[in-house]
Amino acid sequence: MQTLSDNTYTGVGVSPGRIIGSVRQMPRAVSEPPAGERLTHESPEAATDALRAAAKSVQAVLNDRAAGAAGAGRQVLEATALMAADPMLIKAAVKLITAGSSAERAIWDAAASVAEMLHNLGGYMAERVTDVFDVRSRIVAELRGVPAPGIPLSDVPFVLVAEDLAPADTATLDPAVVIALITSSGGPQSHTAIIARALGLPAVVAALGVTELAHDALVYVDGAAGTVTLNPGADEHAAAAAWATTAASLAEFDGNGRTRDGHLVPLLSNVGGADDAVKAAAAGAQGVGLLRTEFCFLDRDTEPSVDEQVAAYRGVFDAFPGKKVVLRTLDAGADKPLPFLTDASEPNPALGVRGYRTDLTSPGVLQRQLSAVALAAEDSAADVWVMAPMISTAEEAGDFAALCTAAGLTTPGVMVEVPSAALTTEAILRHVEFVSLGTNDLTQYAMAADRQLGPLAALNTPWQPAVLQLVRLTVAGAVAEGENKPVGVCGEAAADPALAVVLVGLGVSTLSMTARALSAVAAVLASVTLAEAQSLAALALAASSATEARAAVRAHLPILHDLGL
Ligand code: PEP
Ligand code: MG
Repeated sequence: MQTLSDNTYTGVGVSPGRIIGSVRQMPRAVSEPPAGERLTHESPEAATDALRAAAKSVQAVLNDRAAGAAGAGRQVLEATALMAADPMLIKAAVKLITAGSSAERAIWDAAASVAEMLHNLGGYMAERVTDVFDVRSRIVAELRGVPAPGIPLSDVPFVLVAEDLAPADTATLDPAVVIALITSSGGPQSHTAIIARALGLPAVVAALGVTELAHDALVYVDGAAGTVTLNPGADEHAAAAAWATTAASLAEFDGNGRTRDGHLVPLLSNVGGADDAVKAAAAGAQGVGLLRTEFCFLDRDTEPSVDEQVAAYRGVFDAFPGKKVVLRTLDAGADKPLPFLTDASEPNPALGVRGYRTDLTSPGVLQRQLSAVALAAEDSAADVWVMAPMISTAEEAGDFAALCTAAGLTTPGVMVEVPSAALTTEAILRHVEFVSLGTNDLTQYAMAADRQLGPLAALNTPWQPAVLQLVRLTVAGAVAEGENKPVGVCGEAAADPALAVVLVGLGVSTLSMTARALSAVAAVLASVTLAEAQSLAALALAASSATEARAAVRAHLPILHDLGL
């Protein structure tokens, strides 16, 4: 996928925007010190002093960062800072040093014992395991004199370059400091891409070679074209300045998604919790098309209690009184493991016990989640719908609907993200009230291409005519079922303004996306009639490749160029 021509790296553009900034490389993960490593300092006392100094300095850095952060990011940092000075942790490490271990190995092993103990205590204590491991890596990095793991600290804005980013890396990502994301790996459906769009940051993924870019190198990032240009010239500076104006003019969405001739297409938002929901409501979202409930509990080792779940869901419902909120039950597995539901040793997690399938291996969790949803919905003003991820058969849809009915939830639906579900939508809709196309996974499974792998990014795009055919068949299944049940899209495809037009032309009824994309999608949708959208859909379906489909459709949407999208 990647080529380096002159001074330009080419990858895949996953979040529009044109920006110039200097590079900071994401530090590499800290490697484990060799097992049994013996003292490397001249004495146990010297090693102990070095360890204490390293822990102190890690704590000071984290406290500094916490002071400058807000909300959830601040809490994460404060909790980690506390752990860095935890007397139990340091005492356990000093004991190992006294017994002859190196300082690095001692903190490594001490942290493992503390983590195990916390894990066994369960509840809130078990939640701290992540902090222990984070602190351990930071202390080892400090002892080695290498950069600390995680997003680099900086007083000036920078372009973050990484191999890939995990959801946890981005907890403290401040879009005022990180102004663009570039990764050498990852595809258009990867979490880096999803996060970049959510934060409104220009982003290019699968740009091989960018991890070699020097610290402070000046680059121009074009998140629509998918290019990164080293040492930008006058043209790039002009394009970046023009984008700054465009971004300001794209800020508004009037809360009424429609085509030019008035065909209504509610534009909903994808959210991961109450904070997102409040922002989405402020951005004009007409409801929530996907509440990724696993995002509320990504840092958890243990199943959240019903009360905790009620509080988390209620926060989202309260942001949308009188509006539809589609809650998705836990989609644990593959790139979103939850230790209390998934087995980290599965050989092929994307095809494993994931999403709805975890009900097979952890019975009870889903029922408890549905009870929590019902309780949260009880005296909420939101119109609560609930759907299951990773449904493969009509039988599974029927079983899920029965669980919803038992919990007192009246609007069950399922995601269509496995090709078998797209091919059997008519049968599925005999059991449930709606379907929602998860084009991220639908693409990965239709193309047999892991959504996280950079080298497969060209396969892994929802512009693939085969994926568009599956969308068409899903809509056809809903029409054949005869009760006019809604077919939404909540995958990243809905956030691509040109593709959103194609999806509407294919007959989908709602589009759900990151709040940041609402205004651009609304503007482009409002530039076409429904008939025009339908002919653009036909054009895309008839194309012989994803590249051709995208180019053909974009050529008919001049507004994209005007808006710099
Ligand atoms: C999808 O697969 O398109 C989807 C919306 O779910 P997720 O990205 O959370 O897997
Ligand atoms: Mg999915």
